Amino acid sequence: MLENLFAKRINKNIPSRLQGLFPETNFPDNISFGGGCPDEKSFPARELVNAYQEAIINEKEHSFQYHDVKGPERLREFLADRAQKKMGIANVTSEDVMLTAGGQQGIELVAKLFLEAGDKMAVEVPCYVGALAAFDVYEPDYYEIPMEDDGVNLDCLEATLKAHPDIKLFYTVPDFHNPTGITMSLEKRQRLVELANKYNFVILEDTPYRDLRYHGESLPSIKSFDTEGRVIFLSSFSKILSPAYRLGWLVASPEIKAELTKLKLAEDLEVPYIPSATVDNYIAHHDLDAHIEGLKKIYRQKLDKMDQALHAYLPADAKISHPEGGFFFWIELGDDANTSQLLLEEAIPNEHLIYVPSASFYPDRDHVNGLRVNFTGSSLAEIDEGCRRLGRLLNVDSLM
Ligand code: PMP
Repeated sequence: MLENLFAKRINKNIPSRLQGLFPETNFPDNISFGGGCPDEKSFPARELVNAYQEAIINEKEHSFQYHDVKGPERLREFLADRAQKKMGIANVTSEDVMLTAGGQQGIELVAKLFLEAGDKMAVEVPCYVGALAAFDVYEPDYYEIPMEDDGVNLDCLEATLKAHPDIKLFYTVPDFHNPTGITMSLEKRQRLVELANKYNFVILEDTPYRDLRYHGESLPSIKSFDTEGRVIFLSSFSKILSPAYRLGWLVASPEIKAELTKLKLAEDLEVPYIPSATVDNYIAHHDLDAHIEGLKKIYRQKLDKMDQALHAYLPADAKISHPEGGFFFWIELGDDANTSQLLLEEAIPNEHLIYVPSASFYPDRDHVNGLRVNFTGSSLAEIDEGCRRLGRLLNVDSLM
């Protein structure tokens, strides 16, 4: 009854992109390739418990008090150093690093800073569903730029910019893209910054999977080519340590960071002390990169297993992506396939298998012949069995 008091931008007729993304199933032999979950056995639980205790012991009663919006200085220094050494971003200090409640809050704050209803923004398609969910609230007009094997199609982006020079923001996941697993080439990273300078827009570079490369050589970040403070570099501890701390970080120009900080203050007042101090202590006493090397060993095996199993079980005409890192494979089927229907009517009830259908990754939810599968959250045996089930689904004449 009070719905007519809701803000105009709240459209209750459009279901959330995130709620219901992972349908519940109770089958004991269920296999989920759905969520972007890390391997639970990989969490350094004992070390994190010690780091948590240290956070409380150090600050005593004050640990339970309010703290500040910046979060631990030592952690921000660590990240500034990492941004320089691992991402190739020059002259980053702890003052340029902002801690956020997961990468997701960083995306949401950027959307809030730049977008009003009807503002134009460009996104890669398919596009990370959580980013679309954050952007949707601010009601932008989306311009969809298709992915190619070496990253987003920049000729298409440039043609779109020529036609719509008022596009303000471009969102990209250049490393092991969610959902396709594709990595943007070095040439495209450089040219993207040139386009941003020429056509006056901001790039949001979202990199939660960047450290998780299992094959090939790492590339400099897009932000490393930034000459005008137009690139916002965003990352997270979710995939390399644990998503439960809800800790992300970004590097932005002083002008942008100051406004994002004001918005964060209004949103949640501060970086929560206990999670951020726990991660800070963990990093101070352990080698994060050694932990990441351990993850890479586990995930490399899983990626190779899924690669082999998908090629063994799926129909020959299924187009399967070739990720060199990250969490996901992307599969495209023939034009007559409907993976949303297939999931609900066959994959879950008959095969006890979950994946994410492609519709979720498009602004208008109108591409229904693809799917995303995650390999990090399942065991090697589950990966094999899950791909076998997927193959059974796709080989039978059930494509709708
Ligand atoms: N960006 C991308 C591309 C992601 O895949 C995710 C998590 N699935 C996020 C951002 C947000 O992650 P978090 O808020 O846990 O850091």
